Amino acid sequence: MTLREIIERSRKIVFFGGAGVSTESGIPDFRSEDGLYRQKYDVPPEVMLSSTYFYSHTAEFYRFYRDKMLPLSASPNAAHKKLAAWERAGKLLAVVTQNIDGLHQAAGSKRVYELHGSIHRNYCLACGKFYSAQYIAESSAVPHCSCGGLIKPDVVLYGEQLDALTVQGALEAIASADTLIVAGTSLTVYPAAGFVEYFRGKHLVLINRDATPLDGKCSLVLHQKVGEVLGELPSFLPDEE
Ligand code: NAD
Repeated sequence: MTLREIIERSRKIVFFGGAGVSTESGIPDFRSEDGLYRQKYDVPPEVMLSSTYFYSHTAEFYRFYRDKMLPLSASPNAAHKKLAAWERAGKLLAVVTQNIDGLHQAAGSKRVYELHGSIHRNYCLACGKFYSAQYIAESSAVPHCSCGGLIKPDVVLYGEQLDALTVQGALEAIASADTLIVAGTSLTVYPAAGFVEYFRGKHLVLINRDATPLDGKCSLVLHQKVGEVLGELPSFLPDEE
């Protein structure tokens, strides 16, 4: 069966994505050829993005974070837009994402489980006041709250736990899906990568440029660009064909 036929027959699609979903919006992923992990840093990115590093080297953390993790000028690509259309058309239950860039919501998606948090939420560790990503981008050195407290991005750093309610919602969506599309993820970051195991539906589809550990278990594997693949499919909205 082609992807188009699968999508046509599905009523409860869940999309599970990673950094590769946003590369066509100009945001580098971590593990591709031109990904962040192939660039040379004195301290590896997985260390700089750890909770320990945030608290022990806050200024260095923010220098890296501001430089590499705040793509505020990026906009949704064809993949983000098509998923939002499928949700409006009543075909898609939810997007579960490992991304922190907020591009699914920018495209109009409503039910988005952000497993690793969002750059768009930042909060004071002392009083809990929230700040925008713009505030973090424009602050110099270490951003502080009006109360003097340290501001932390609401992203899950290495060494931190995923939010329990977000995990529950994501797993319930995946477990009730008839089709699960896994895309743009190397499936190497746990526990998120293990979420796919909760799928009980009919069609497990993988759209990823490179091979992944899931390839052998899928009903359809497309080693292509997710924006190009989804962009070709119908939106299933009568006024937007
Ligand atoms: P990853 O970098 O480990 O893997 C990305 C995968 O996407 C690769 O296998 C690559 O082949 C594939 N890919 C790249 N561009 C693609 C495209 N256009 N179409 C299809 N496939 C494409 O990413 P990961 O598995 O998501 O794990 C990295 C962690 O870092 C995650 O938590 C991730 O969300 C986070 N991260 C987030 C962003 C973001 O928010 N945009 C960016 C970088 C990293």
